[in-house]
Amino acid sequence: VPRLAARGLVHRFGDTSALAGVDVDLADGESLAVMGPSGSGKSTLLHVLAGILVPTSGTVALRGLEVQALSEKERSLLRRRRYGFVFQLGQLLSELSALENVALPAMLTGASRADAQASAGQWLAALGLAGAEGRRPGELSGGQAQRVAVARALITRPEVVFADEPTGSLDQATGHDVMQVLRDATRAVGASLVVVTHDADVAAWCDRRIDVRDGRVVAPGSTTGGGAGP
Ligand code: ADP
Ligand code: ADP
Repeated sequence: VPRLAARGLVHRFGDTSALAGVDVDLADGESLAVMGPSGSGKSTLLHVLAGILVPTSGTVALRGLEVQALSEKERSLLRRRRYGFVFQLGQLLSELSALENVALPAMLTGASRADAQASAGQWLAALGLAGAEGRRPGELSGGQAQRVAVARALITRPEVVFADEPTGSLDQATGHDVMQVLRDATRAVGASLVVVTHDADVAAWCDRRIDVRDGRVVAPGSTTGGGAGP
């Protein structure tokens, strides 16, 4: 059984068909890049795979558990306990310190404040952020902020990490650095990884890549449809 298996995903927003029949398998520990031009359905696919959106039709199974069939409340719990999320720069809570941002998901899944903060401190040190614990997001560089976001996504030791343009608005060298940290840290906890990106250099950090055009998966490297990005 794959860690995550999606079959026949269709998603419509009113008259717009965002996904038109997508199958995806994600193996244990595998990293998968989802590429495609703007409007091709990448974010919708990520949100459906992550149980944020329920597809119009089709199934998404986490180790055989059909997530789309769960209630909103059950999906919310599942996301919190079994998934981690990294979004574009700017997703940290600006009033909290780096340490508090990382500790929060652990506290939301039942850890005491003391245990969560101890674990958060270890994560920050492991990702090269010792000394930055007390800083707020506004006092961090973009690369540092995304490392904090990686620590926040991994502190609960999720089974799958979902990253939506995690290097968006970073320069290329910093983006590489963040991707290396994201991939290595994800591997270290045994999680699988899904990364949505329009940057082929970012996708190159992943084990495998799929390309989405008009809500369908096309062969990797295909340029059908044009506007394939970099
Ligand atoms: P990408 O992430 O590749 O840019 P999206 O998944 O965001 O693509 O969008 C796929 C299609 O679905 C686009 O045509 C987009 O305009 C449409 N879409 C996305 N989200 C919504 C929404 N909330 N309401 C209506 N249409 C949407
Ligand atoms: P976009 O695709 O437009 O850049 P994001 O990827 O940042 O937007 O977020 C897409 C949607 O997913 C937003 O409505 C956001 O509130 C929601 N979202 C983000 N993180 C989570 C989460 N952990 N659980 C549930 N919903 C989330």
